[in-house]
Amino acid sequence: MQKAYYAFSDYLKEKFGQKVYKITIDAGFSCPNRDGTISSGGCVFCDESGSFSKAHSSSLDIENQIKTGIKNLSERFGAQKFFAYFQAFTNTYAPVEELKNIYDAAFCDENILGISIGTRPDCVDEKKLDLISTYKNPWLELGLQSTYNDTLKKINRGHDYECFLKAYKLAKERNINVCVHMVLGLFNETKEMMLKSAKRLAELGIDGIKLHMLTILEDAPLAKIYEENPFVLLSMQEYCEIVCDFLELLPPTTTIHRLAGSGYSKTLIAPKWVNNKFETLNLIDKIFEQRKTKQGAKF
Ligand code: SF4
Repeated sequence: MQKAYYAFSDYLKEKFGQKVYKITIDAGFSCPNRDGTISSGGCVFCDESGSFSKAHSSSLDIENQIKTGIKNLSERFGAQKFFAYFQAFTNTYAPVEELKNIYDAAFCDENILGISIGTRPDCVDEKKLDLISTYKNPWLELGLQSTYNDTLKKINRGHDYECFLKAYKLAKERNINVCVHMVLGLFNETKEMMLKSAKRLAELGIDGIKLHMLTILEDAPLAKIYEENPFVLLSMQEYCEIVCDFLELLPPTTTIHRLAGSGYSKTLIAPKWVNNKFETLNLIDKIFEQRKTKQGAKF
């Protein structure tokens, strides 16, 4: 069935003529918002995995993570082409010379077609972005989470919206694709506020987006806040409705990297429905179908 939104996987297929698979890498980085440089608590929703899927082990060096990823994906899906995705923690948090060795290692196989680097807006500068722009098909995944400084303060992000705008501009000046990570359901944000964020990002013409539902994980600071003062979390229906509203406001050309996930089972406190990835995606499809709209309908 044709999706009502422009999935990143479709973009890759159109660009490279075949399905491209992401290999997630843990390069052993830390995060300045966890190691005490900015704060030691981290973002309130972040647990000790630093947003990593735990699909691979950081005990392997980068080349071996790539080789293992290629082997597994080829055996399971017949995969032939890949993107290297530096996912865990802050993947630009090192001197530029060190970063070069790390990113170079990801291109150890000719079937690696591009690179995605997840990071914080306050951890990139001109030199680091100059380096990233030298790689094939570079994507920067910038964690923003909210466009409201008040929210960013409450979730202990350690940077403001203006910092994101600066990093975004520097990346775009170097023709680096930017995928923005946002969290929906942050405790003080109304639906109107979330959609205002969508409009702000639409005005920037962002290349990609990842949407996350706010989740409460056992090892994250938010778990204590939630335990002491439980607050209302979005239901699956509410989340999916807002996702559709959000996507209607984005340009049709913005690639959609993620709308739902899974794999939280061990540490997830709430909401339990976030583990139902396919149910969530099906509901988003259904809402678009009922509305007879699609991404970009209100752009
Ligand atoms: S910036 Fe990323 S890794 Fe660092 S604390 Fe926040 S969510 Fe966790």
